[in-house]
Amino acid sequence: MCELLVGLPEVTVLDVTETGERVRVMIETRGGRPSCPSCSGPVVVKDRNVVELADLPCFGRRAVLAWRKVRWGCPTGCGSFTEDTPAIGAARLRLTDRAGRWATLQVGRHGRSVNEVASDLGCGWHAVMDAVGAYGKVLVDDPDRFGDVTAVGLDETLRCRVGQWRHQQWTTQIVDVQAGQLLDIVEGRSASGPIEWLGQRPQQWRDQIRWATLDLSGPYRKVFNLMLPDATQVADPFHLVKLASSKLDECRRRVQNETLGHRGRKDDPLYRARRLLTKAHERLDEAGDAKLVGLLDAGDPRGEVRMAWHAKEVVRSIYQITNGELADEYVTQLGIDLQDDSCPPEVNSLGRTIGRWRHQITAWHRAHVTNGPTEAINNLVKRIKRVAFGITNFANYRIRALLYAGRPNWDLLATITPH
Ligand SMILES: [Zn+2]
Repeated sequence: MCELLVGLPEVTVLDVTETGERVRVMIETRGGRPSCPSCSGPVVVKDRNVVELADLPCFGRRAVLAWRKVRWGCPTGCGSFTEDTPAIGAARLRLTDRAGRWATLQVGRHGRSVNEVASDLGCGWHAVMDAVGAYGKVLVDDPDRFGDVTAVGLDETLRCRVGQWRHQQWTTQIVDVQAGQLLDIVEGRSASGPIEWLGQRPQQWRDQIRWATLDLSGPYRKVFNLMLPDATQVADPFHLVKLASSKLDECRRRVQNETLGHRGRKDDPLYRARRLLTKAHERLDEAGDAKLVGLLDAGDPRGEVRMAWHAKEVVRSIYQITNGELADEYVTQLGIDLQDDSCPPEVNSLGRTIGRWRHQITAWHRAHVTNGPTEAINNLVKRIKRVAFGITNFANYRIRALLYAGRPNWDLLATITPH
């Protein structure tokens, strides 16, 4: 009856004890005697070591499987080896096989934290992460995980900060922007990682990519120029709007400093205006609008902040245009207008960037990348941040993010053997 409850093939239950809130089941295997891997001769039992594995909870209690593992020895002097029964637990992992698969599903598919799952099983963080890594690696390396991709995006993401100086660790996410699927993650935010990754794909796969989305940064442009020369580059609207907002912010802080001689304090008009300025104009009600006008009248004597704010709103309006040709004209003219001498230097700088990237910006209007690349990428970033931000080890970070946002084939989980 015990064996039936334990539910493992070819094992003898030696003992069941209860310690604290845990049930501890001691087993040994009763499989046949293997032969020596070196000389193929008969082997003898050398000794037995008890290995404790965290198992799935049993009747509401946490369970530990204590496995008396046989160490076999060869009498002719080839040495010794430990029995290997992956159906019970993979070598080196501290979870039973079934607990390892369950943990991978919880952490990977359902996005639960490693700590939570470790607490369910009554084991440590590393025991769970190691198992998720071992089973998960097979799922994320599955060659069929993603099919043909026609729109690929690159996006930099802060992974964690480490050490005394909170040194930033960056990664580059490679995304199918049409399917909203995370394809892979490489270390760093330079061109070399994505170049290498794309270089590992078959030429035929690369040839199918028609759209390549990027932020307004040189390295990713270099990646696409080199690796996907025929794909149309599309600037991510999110990054352009973000740039316009950060230029507005820069301008506000400079004017603040020049007019009052110090950084923003809570009663300074420009400091009080900072939230109203970043908000989308159509989302301000009449009172908010009036308040913003009043604060700018008080704190912005030369109208510079007002101009930077206007520039930000105009940049946002680029994405209201539905006609590609109209967008071309509009964006080209905008780049020139913003570089006018009457504009503050921050707006001039925005104008130069728009001029340099105008083809990529208006390519968005021609690319029928559904919902725009913005949403796909930013939703993924949010999902990944939720489950993986702060994980310092890159391999663990990659596995967690890909299991959660990379659409592995979960049906495979039942059939794979861990790496
Ligand atoms: Zn031997």
